[in-house]
Amino acid sequence: MGRDIRVRRGNADVGLIDKAEVPQPLKFVLNWGRKYSLWVMNFGLACCAIEFIATSTARHDFIRLGVIPFAHGPRQADLMIVAGTLTDKMAPALKRLYDQMPEPKYVISFGSCSNCGGPFWDSYSVTKGVDQIVPVDVYVPGCPPRPEALLEGIIKLQEMIQQESLKQRYEQRESRQPIVVGGGDPTRHPADDPL
Ligand code: SF4
Repeated sequence: MGRDIRVRRGNADVGLIDKAEVPQPLKFVLNWGRKYSLWVMNFGLACCAIEFIATSTARHDFIRLGVIPFAHGPRQADLMIVAGTLTDKMAPALKRLYDQMPEPKYVISFGSCSNCGGPFWDSYSVTKGVDQIVPVDVYVPGCPPRPEALLEGIIKLQEMIQQESLKQRYEQRESRQPIVVGGGDPTRHPADDPL
């Protein structure tokens, strides 16, 4: 029973804003506070994690955008950034940590490996995209993407948070359209590209 509680899927409702539309001035203030205090659960798995770390350090400094790296654990985190090659063996751990994050929570898939398996998409062991495991809000393409691409992804996520209604977010959980940095269709597969 204890284990059921610890890894229980989903989260308890967090309040009135889950069920009722908040007046616009109040929504503006709440969203403004949320978008500039994004605690990150860093899920660094391979080379892309180095680019993530570079984005957090002095030259690119995403902390100036209100992004706080290295949350103490998933229960303190608002944003999961998956950076690197996810394997089928690691996937259940990612899902468990995602489930432990409180709502509202967001996911950035950073780099080709986490988007679709990248150079290892035909490997027997690599998961072909973290979106098979958790819902993704922002895709950042590249192998590896530059830190500027992650900054753009964070800014686009913040713009989305500023506009969003949590009530609508929860209602449209299954049908939300993700953001792709640089544009593009997240449902397109490389095999569909003309040679
Ligand atoms: S996308 Fe490229 S750089 Fe990033 S983890 Fe995969 S192989 Fe490494």
